Amino acid sequence: MFSYRHAFHAGNHADVLKHTVLIATLDHLLEKEAALTVVDTHAGAGLYRLDGDYAGTSGEAADGILRLLSDKKDPATPAPTAKSATKKVASEAEAPLADAIARYLSVVQDFNPKGGARVYPGSPFIVQHLLRDHDKLKLFELHPTDARTLDANIAQLEAGRQIAVLREDGFGSATKFLPPPSRRALVLMDPSYEMKTDYGRVLDFMAEALKRFATGTYAVWYPIIPRPEAHDLPRRLKTMATKAGKPWLHATLTVKSSKITKDAASGETHRPGLPASGMFLINPPYTLKPLLAAALPQLVQRLGQDRNAAFSLDSDG
Ligand code: SAM
Repeated sequence: MFSYRHAFHAGNHADVLKHTVLIATLDHLLEKEAALTVVDTHAGAGLYRLDGDYAGTSGEAADGILRLLSDKKDPATPAPTAKSATKKVASEAEAPLADAIARYLSVVQDFNPKGGARVYPGSPFIVQHLLRDHDKLKLFELHPTDARTLDANIAQLEAGRQIAVLREDGFGSATKFLPPPSRRALVLMDPSYEMKTDYGRVLDFMAEALKRFATGTYAVWYPIIPRPEAHDLPRRLKTMATKAGKPWLHATLTVKSSKITKDAASGETHRPGLPASGMFLINPPYTLKPLLAAALPQLVQRLGQDRNAAFSLDSDG
């Protein structure tokens, strides 16, 4: 049941999209003094070593955060041409880094004071890094090994009662924190989608969460893969938000083709790995869309691996 380990994927293009959106959203929510509760329904281990065995084996960070960091040093690196379903991307090799990307990189760099990115912060540590003393963080993680690692990583922060680590089902239990006493919350829902049923569970969770706390900000990550449930998920979330009269935002980043290819000589099939992912937000900050409008074309340009690289950015208004 639990073969997914985020350590293999930490810092990949999907994390870049998810964490860029997460930071931009939090930055806005933290402008108000009133306490914020962040609920991370699928937390992972919290911190990852990009020079360790897991990340080294998959090499996914090389095409994600590490590419962005090396481009930052050499902004004139030639980038692939990219087309988007909704926007064409012109050559922007010389353009200054978009604010949301620069902010994301600066947060990652805070965890690597000696430079580079040996350590990659997962969502729990990104959020904790940004929260103020009076804010709260609720972390759900079910994998026994990752939950133990998360516990140990969080214990080092000596954050006391600010952070709770729960070895519980994030889909089934996280709504118990809604609404929080201050009536301000961000819920990040980032399942592994190992099981097909995860897609339906996201929708059930969101329906229940909106019923309990309609004004919360909700951010759902999902993979864009050739599976009907993956394509239905954003459509259904959009319908749910629209019916509830809530604003929404949908951002996607594609870095390569999803086609399975066959090597003519050896006959071996090549699976491309995750080609694209999306973030769907309900009640997003109004500041998010312009930030992503500037950032997504640069992410396409810097992380795109073939001519299928693209982004989309839609919202209710
Ligand atoms: N949010 C993390 C980040 O951005 O750094 C990554 C999370 S990873 C994509 C998904 C995690 O959810 C895995 O660590 C997995 O063990 C955990 N998980 C799977 N099913 C779960 C469930 N029902 N409740 C809580 N955690 C679950």
